[in-house]
Amino acid sequence: MITEWFEVVDDRFRALLLPNVHVDTLFDGGRWLEGPVWVPAAKHLLFSDIPNNRVMRWDAASGHVSVFQQPSHFANGHTRDRQGRVLACEHQTRRVTRFEHDGSVTVVADSYRGKRLNSPNDLVEGPDGAIWFTDPTYGILTEYEGGRCDSEIGSHNVYRVGPEGAAEAVITDLVQPNGIAFSPDGSVLYVADSGSTPSRMMAYEIGADGLPGKATVLHEALRGIYDGFRLDRLGNLWVAAEEGVVCLAPDGTLLGRILLPEVVGNVEFGGPERNRLFICATRRLMAVYLNVTGAQ
Ligand code: MG
Repeated sequence: MITEWFEVVDDRFRALLLPNVHVDTLFDGGRWLEGPVWVPAAKHLLFSDIPNNRVMRWDAASGHVSVFQQPSHFANGHTRDRQGRVLACEHQTRRVTRFEHDGSVTVVADSYRGKRLNSPNDLVEGPDGAIWFTDPTYGILTEYEGGRCDSEIGSHNVYRVGPEGAAEAVITDLVQPNGIAFSPDGSVLYVADSGSTPSRMMAYEIGADGLPGKATVLHEALRGIYDGFRLDRLGNLWVAAEEGVVCLAPDGTLLGRILLPEVVGNVEFGGPERNRLFICATRRLMAVYLNVTGAQ
């Protein structure tokens, strides 16, 4: 039986679901949860509680949730690189950082052409090994999610930081670029624009030069905004949305939804088999087992 948590729009969605599973609440007590990242070696999930200026840790073995880092500089999105290191987008300090294996912190990016970034929101390591991140203004609009400041750059870009180390603006025409991820084969870059009306999921073909080329609107949100998202190994997108989690096929077809009581900000595949979707739903960390694993 497919439980009431799931709305099947396209029959392909059924194959991604398991019978008789429920959406678990692993933690309740945040303000605006975001930025989940699974850390396989530690068997834990880190996630941001942005207004409380802290990063939380859910331990898979014990189920215990504790404060991992506070203050967190109002950290938002996290990712993991191929070496297993965690990277963070920090609103207050307006930078992208990497946590090295020895505990030291490396600043990956904090400026573009000599001007401070707005407030990096979400990020991913690309197939080229570069760090790609979005830089909307959500962390400098209010004290609640960072600190109120003017934008120095004056635009809301997507950046790529390659081995040479400088941030290069690769997409400059979105309203508020937010979630970001690549297709499993690396040929398509997806970026959620949470500032457009309606909010859109954009798809960019990666050209021979390794940069985003032709852009298409993959899908438009029915209501609310699209925020963070992750892909499964089949290339489907699991997208944070107002009504819960929206699942889109690689061609943009709406496959179905996970309906949740609170607005979702971001998701992450994790667990030893990478078949559990962790969901940051406003105040709650939730999770559901799926019949598909996350993209590597
Ligand atoms: Mg976001």
